[in-house]
Amino acid sequence: MRIATGDEGAWLVSDGSYTRLPPWAVTPAGTLRRPVRGVLNMLERQNKPPVRAYHLTVLTTTNCNLGCAYCFQNTGAAKADSFKPPRIDAKTLNAEAARDIARFTQRQMRAAGLKDLDLLVFGGEPLLVPHMVFTLLKALEPVGLQRARMISNGVRLNSALARQLAASGLREVQTTFDGRQAEHDAVRRDHRGRGTYRTIIENIVAAQEATDILFSIRINVTADNEHGIDALVEDLGQQLDAGRCTLHLALVDETAAGFTAATDHKRLAERFAAWHIAALEQGFQVTPPTPQARCLYCDKRRGVEGAVINADGTLYSCWDSAGQKGYDVGTATEGYYSDRRVEDRWVRCGYQDHREPQPEAEKAIDRATVAVLEWKRSRGAP
Ligand code: SF4
Repeated sequence: MRIATGDEGAWLVSDGSYTRLPPWAVTPAGTLRRPVRGVLNMLERQNKPPVRAYHLTVLTTTNCNLGCAYCFQNTGAAKADSFKPPRIDAKTLNAEAARDIARFTQRQMRAAGLKDLDLLVFGGEPLLVPHMVFTLLKALEPVGLQRARMISNGVRLNSALARQLAASGLREVQTTFDGRQAEHDAVRRDHRGRGTYRTIIENIVAAQEATDILFSIRINVTADNEHGIDALVEDLGQQLDAGRCTLHLALVDETAAGFTAATDHKRLAERFAAWHIAALEQGFQVTPPTPQARCLYCDKRRGVEGAVINADGTLYSCWDSAGQKGYDVGTATEGYYSDRRVEDRWVRCGYQDHREPQPEAEKAIDRATVAVLEWKRSRGAP
């Protein structure tokens, strides 16, 4: 539960639900007044939504056709003569590992008493091995696959592939932009140094024309690209079928691999909210931004609510540690290692980020949250 305060008021944000707070409920410091806090804590305990599906992330390959400097799978910076930073060890899913993953998932779901499976196909770049994406989807279908999503850089997506993916049950694809074409192409380059902005847009347009796949557009905001975010949102709004896309903006700073693009969060707060509103005006679906929330993968040990599995069937506690040396916590064939063995390896999302808390970044997120919620409220959203 968190209180988001902005220019227009304060909202209570709790597990995906939003409640507008009257001004008297919040102190000038932005905290809840005591009697209100007691009631809301009680309501939150009573109304906590149950976990309805088992969440599974599978890396179909750790290889990638791009070399983004901030990728958390990088193990260092690129050499001067290369566009490709060194990455975690190369692994690619095969049919046997897909079957092992399906059996493991079935055991975990039985233990959790869950019948539905929510799958995220992850990489590297999953579309380097589309046949293994199909194999995985097929292997998981009898296990209770209800929802299948994929994170892809979009460079290999084309209308024929999109049709095959849709026919195999894939419903959503998340793709990232790193600013307008000039800034994006400086970051998201292929291994020959070619930019990918135009290709990704053309591929999404083609996939939208060919299928009903939904797209989740992520925009990474850094010090290097923030001046062009207005133009980017406008360009995406004009080129894509915005009504079939969700859009979210993320503040990207340092990574363990040495990439630094720290933004001035204080200065950014106003613009961050304005970009969200611009996206809404363009017709995108925009959910209020959230700081790090509950995670179904790493919050509880032993994959109780969800599991992250590398392409070779090795288990990890979260996306960030997947494929990282010394962070394996089990295998799909044998299950999780003993609690004692994983004691120091069960890391949580963001474990590589050693920075102090960023209160100004949280304020920027809060202001954007309130701006989005008030925009929707003013248009009659419940
Ligand atoms: S496209 Fe994704 S997986 Fe590939 S380098 Fe960039 S951030 Fe990493």
